[in-house]
Amino acid sequence: MADFTCSVDADGIATITWDVPGKSMNVLNLEGAAELEAHVDSALADPAVAGVILTSGKKDFAGGMDLNVIAKMKESAGTDPAQGLFDGIMRFHALERKIELAGMDPRTKKGGKPIVAALPGTALGIGLEIPLACHRIFAADNPKAKIGLPEILVGIFPGAGGTTRLVRKLGPMAASPFLLEGKLSDPQRAKAAGIIDEVVAPDLLLARAKEWVLAATEADLVKPWDQKGYKLPGGAPYHPAGFMTFVGASAMVLGKTMGVYPAAKALLSAVYEGALVPFDTALRIEARWFTHVLMNPSSSAMIRSLFINKAALEKGANRPQVADQKVAKLGVLGAGMMGAGIAHVAASSGIQVILIDATQEAADRGKAHSQGLLDKGIKRGKVTADEKAEVLARITATADYAALSGCELVIEAVFEDPKVKAEVTAKAEAVLSETAVFATNTSTLPISDLAKASRRPAQFIGIHFFSPVDKMMLVEIIKGRDTGDTAVAKALDFVRQIRKTPIVVNDARFFYANRCIIPYINEGIRMVAEGVEPALIENAAKLVGLPLGPLQLVDETSIDLGVKIAKATRAAMGDAYPDGAVDTVLFAMADRARLGRKAGAGFYAYDDAGKRTGLWDGLSDLWPVAQVQPELTEVQHRMLFVQVLEAVRALEQGVLTDIREGDVGAILGWGFCPWSGGPFSWLDMIGAETAVQICDRLADAHGPRFAAPGLLREIAADGDSFYARFATAVQAA
Ligand code: NAD
Repeated sequence: MADFTCSVDADGIATITWDVPGKSMNVLNLEGAAELEAHVDSALADPAVAGVILTSGKKDFAGGMDLNVIAKMKESAGTDPAQGLFDGIMRFHALERKIELAGMDPRTKKGGKPIVAALPGTALGIGLEIPLACHRIFAADNPKAKIGLPEILVGIFPGAGGTTRLVRKLGPMAASPFLLEGKLSDPQRAKAAGIIDEVVAPDLLLARAKEWVLAATEADLVKPWDQKGYKLPGGAPYHPAGFMTFVGASAMVLGKTMGVYPAAKALLSAVYEGALVPFDTALRIEARWFTHVLMNPSSSAMIRSLFINKAALEKGANRPQVADQKVAKLGVLGAGMMGAGIAHVAASSGIQVILIDATQEAADRGKAHSQGLLDKGIKRGKVTADEKAEVLARITATADYAALSGCELVIEAVFEDPKVKAEVTAKAEAVLSETAVFATNTSTLPISDLAKASRRPAQFIGIHFFSPVDKMMLVEIIKGRDTGDTAVAKALDFVRQIRKTPIVVNDARFFYANRCIIPYINEGIRMVAEGVEPALIENAAKLVGLPLGPLQLVDETSIDLGVKIAKATRAAMGDAYPDGAVDTVLFAMADRARLGRKAGAGFYAYDDAGKRTGLWDGLSDLWPVAQVQPELTEVQHRMLFVQVLEAVRALEQGVLTDIREGDVGAILGWGFCPWSGGPFSWLDMIGAETAVQICDRLADAHGPRFAAPGLLREIAADGDSFYARFATAVQAA
């Protein structure tokens, strides 16, 4: 069965319909592109065809390119993958240029046939790049549709003509949020931005497209950039206005990416150089920079983690084979910061929620959190008043445990105290059915210990959300010693319902994410104690693509929480506790009531409005800055290796069972250098042997926490890589 079909009506309108069999969303692969080209060729050659409408047989137009195509183009080129990619990209360009010129005489621009795109819904990536080559873009007035070019978010850029065409259509300045930030718009906003040309009532979409095709004149078919005297909107690079745009954009991109994302820089180069030359040359330049980005290991790693593997985990790559466990009614115990957030995301996904706290007032406060978020959504035009009412109607705030009757899943988010947790577990289980699953959102307490309070430990599990719940996309599912398959499937199906990304890990101190984040924070604090300039620590982290420096991070999560965790860890580990040097600093800060952002004082100073004003200048009185400072790379290696070695240990000890989860979880959970594709991808990128050498050096200089784990040494000795060894079903991009 074909991805594209074509039919010609009595008025000579050829409708090419994109409808990939067996998929809910169209994506383009090489075979599909060849089919589309064949239909375009025959429509242009057929004298009975007056014009063409390109549309979709699905509710959406297309989700983009099948990113596995990139791997195929590389592979098929044998020893010269860059040439293979460039040639492959240029074939897409040629197809789009064929649509754009539509059989015109190249000199007079006469004799072409109108080709328009009619988008019923979402059009992303190449699903918008192809329409941009058409003579007019019609979109159905469908507020749920998303239109845009999100490639930059997975480490590439729109390289099938989208960059060159959007810049020529809107001007570099207006195009930049769509290209550099991957901004998506609904059809009305896309029209206001000038990306698409007309928004039409859904039932009139094809009729209006046909009307335009039949009325189109030859002049309507010639794109501005194919007309004499075309000028780039906003000015080309050497025009005074254009000059300012490019100077500003370079600084902005570098400021935002810290230079670690090759795609953003390559995109800007493609735009800048493309703006200086004729259109067809600009397309070749775009293809060259695109090839350059695709050849960078960072883009392959980002595509693999953020696109292919993230999607595989969301689809249930590690779900046990048990019947559907979707949740219709959820119980949430504790309506504090986390409980209220969980209730909100669940109710927003259509789930009935019983939100319980110790008092009715506290439960109501939790529900009010949802109201606040919905009001914000209304202000931003993302939520309607009806939707708000529906979501709030799904949340029942109460102090009465009897209301939990009929809940298939309960998540507790009460105080981090085993006694309180045991108490609410028993109270809930007294009401729940035999098949219901009980989950804890604890961040530090072992699941297997908490499960002791349950009458049915096989149905007890950890579902660990990150704060703020409505924004953070990762959910860590933790199996206790006795957790059974149904509970895991229930947790996974619930996470899927609320459209977040799950990882499934085994029970061990701090599970996976916190296990890696805490050593990162500690390493930063340890360096303060050693006299490393705090600004060097913070900037070194940001310059390697970590979203927050360790000192800012501990200010955000609060220093008293750090103290609490340190005390509990010391109590659990006894003499083996390795972080005395860290605690000296942490406790000294707590003693001075510098508890972080919430106290308006921490490693940073804050103004009255709570805004950071810079690193606290009292730090150097307490921990004098050493005369000799370490190299930037040394500071970065320390902060990266404490995290990735913890990830390797988690894999070695069976806490992680799938490196894909290790990589995706690190990026979504704590923003670990997305450019790297995650800790395991990064180790593969630098090579295990190099990693071991760095570890040996760091361990000599700074202590055994940097000792290379046996697994890393083994992989180095075998000349192997993590993905080659562990990723069975994983297909690298
Ligand atoms: P919080 O203090 O904001 O909320 C706890 C809520 O539980 C309060 O509203 C309290 O009244 C309620 N509560 C206490 N005892 C109760 C009882 N017996 N019955 C019903 N309600 C009761 O705390 P939080 O930050 O939302 O954290 C809750 C849980 O989530 C903790 O286990 C914490 O470790 C975990 N967690 C927190 C974060 C975070 O960033 N804050 C992240 C992940 C997990």
